[in-house]
Amino acid sequence: MAADCIFCKIISREIPSNIIFEDEKVVAFKDVNPQAPVHVVIIPRVHIRTLNDVKDYSVYADLFKAIQHIAAEMKIDRNGYRVIANCNRDALQSVFHIHFHLLGGRVFGWPPG
Ligand code: 5GP
Ligand code: ZN
Repeated sequence: MAADCIFCKIISREIPSNIIFEDEKVVAFKDVNPQAPVHVVIIPRVHIRTLNDVKDYSVYADLFKAIQHIAAEMKIDRNGYRVIANCNRDALQSVFHIHFHLLGGRVFGWPPG
């Protein structure tokens, strides 16, 4: 747990959020500023600042297992969805606790911009 991390505080319930899924490794909650009808943020319980800092790659298996489950639960699996991770400045990462965005419920453009 990092003292100044918003997502660690969501995990510990210090900050309220709409948690829709959690297991031993992962927590998922609705994004406060949704960019699509379905916009869920999936995070590991362990605090890791950026994708550059991942050392134990099993964290990706935990996150993507949850993403597959949540996509089915939210009924966006058949029509489709987008998974996004922003790393550092050029990608506009704003919270420095790694996370994937799961977006669905509308048609997305390509390239993403
Ligand atoms: P990033 O820009 O780092 O990839 O994404 C961070 C995301 O976290 C943003 O989409 C932002 O809306 C979301 N976010 C930031 N603070 C909070 C919060 O306190 N609660 C929730 N539910 N989402 C947050
Ligand atoms: Zn954190």
